Amino acid sequence: MRDLRDVRRQRASSATTMLGVERATTDVVVSGRPSAAARSRGGRARRAGTKRRLATHQVRRSLRDVEPATDGDTIVGVATPVVGGAGGIAILRLSGADAMAIAGRVFRPMGGRRRTSARDADAEGGEEEVVEFESHRATYGVVEDENGRVIDEVIALAFKGPRSYTAEDVVELHCHGGSVCVQRALARCLEEGARLARNGEFTLRAFLNGRLDLTQAEAVHSLVSARTTAAADSALASMRGGLTTPVGEARRTCVDLLAELEARLDFDDEMVPLDVKAIESKAASARETIRKVLATAKRGALLETGVTVAIVGRPNVGKSRLLNALTRSERSIVTSREGTTRDVVEATMNIGGIPATLLDTAGIRSETDDEVEKIGVERSRAAAAGADIVIFVVDAERGWTGEDLAIWESEISRNERARGSAVLVINKTDIADPANAAPPADVAGSFSSIVSISAATGSHLDDLESAVVATVSGGSVDAEGGAWAANQRQAEALQIALDSLDRLEETIAADMPLDFWTIDLREAAFALGSVTGEDITEDVLDTIFERFCIGK
Ligand code: GDP
Repeated sequence: MRDLRDVRRQRASSATTMLGVERATTDVVVSGRPSAAARSRGGRARRAGTKRRLATHQVRRSLRDVEPATDGDTIVGVATPVVGGAGGIAILRLSGADAMAIAGRVFRPMGGRRRTSARDADAEGGEEEVVEFESHRATYGVVEDENGRVIDEVIALAFKGPRSYTAEDVVELHCHGGSVCVQRALARCLEEGARLARNGEFTLRAFLNGRLDLTQAEAVHSLVSARTTAAADSALASMRGGLTTPVGEARRTCVDLLAELEARLDFDDEMVPLDVKAIESKAASARETIRKVLATAKRGALLETGVTVAIVGRPNVGKSRLLNALTRSERSIVTSREGTTRDVVEATMNIGGIPATLLDTAGIRSETDDEVEKIGVERSRAAAAGADIVIFVVDAERGWTGEDLAIWESEISRNERARGSAVLVINKTDIADPANAAPPADVAGSFSSIVSISAATGSHLDDLESAVVATVSGGSVDAEGGAWAANQRQAEALQIALDSLDRLEETIAADMPLDFWTIDLREAAFALGSVTGEDITEDVLDTIFERFCIGK
């Protein structure tokens, strides 16, 4: 009789292999969810004692065991920007098995023997001088054209694989800035047998060679294209594996459960009864992890697109003065007359590294007869309803009033979007005690934070900025303090995983056969694998990397 533990081990390893060790080119097709009729057919089959695998087999067949790797070409690309103003240095990067040889044919170390081109040397049967690059060491020298004429003075920097960005042999040639020198050096490398790199191909190779997982590779792109410090910090946190860790854990849980269930499909009669509670609890913990990662997606999107912050409150509490103080401008008109701001005034700024559009709205009051002001109030309401963050301003001098309460009820308490993402600002603390305007506890509890400031003196405006950033950063913060966030592609895959695990819960509750449990788990594991890159189709890889620039 076969040892059951061995069979389990085999099963576990086959499930793991199936789910993506052959990264990148396994043409994964996750079969769709079976219809209710198919499910009930499955139930009948199960009841009849037939252990049929239904869709799970379909999935297994569609996996192809193709060696991904790269095409073996040595690629070359300009790694520094090729448009815009000329910098002091322009860097050319070669990667691949022939990187050292090709660089050796276009580069001559300073003081090295002058020589004719490799082709001429071949034609004349002469000995070609071979440049020996030392890994991780800079060598000063020149790039020569095919006739041995110097076309630039450069620094060559060699990285022997696998200790390089792509894990292949890499040589960087640091040319003089501007486009001419680097383009001539590029042409020389092409002449000597390198191929022009495609968009993102260096990072793609780093991924295919296992130097980076997919979330890290995507983070490289986010870092390079970050427009604010907060976006850069977030990308760095992802690049350091912040997002991979929880997603990888959730995926491992799904794969382990899958292996456990598959072993049962073959040997149910010989195994101890299934601990359904344990399975449910493991699936629930994976769900919770995914939910937390998914919650960071909103912040990820805001980092890319920026946040809209609406400043709302009664007339004369200091909204316009606050907008001017925050943007250090005179954008909004400040007067002591109520109802001065008739329309929504817009200004852009950077709050703690996040691009923000501030909206100063007309003071909200219901008893105005002024038609223009009425329209302004309506626009304020619309701005508050559509904003990512609402700053609700009250006046310490007047204290907390019934009007404030009415605005809080209509604009915050009843507005699902604003609840949890609203900051209460008690203004004019230079002339009055902020305690005057402290709202009732239930109102206070609805704000993500309460900040006392003076728009007139500028005091504690930095606290307000921090409060806005903290409200936006609902996401996880890693051990080093960088808050990573899921991007849209990752969020879509995480949602699929979450839906599959939700269905698993129903499948278990409905006492469906084990075959169906494995379908749900497999879908979840594949979706999670597509985030980290352990299970991914070439199409998806293409769409990710074509957004990169050429030298990256
Ligand atoms: P809005 O109607 O809410 O936009 O209020 P404004 O910004 O127009 O300000 C109304 C009045 O309050 C003006 O006279 C401002 O100078 C004054 N004000 C605004 N903020 C402060 C503050 O922090 N301290 C003091 N002392 N006065 C302020």
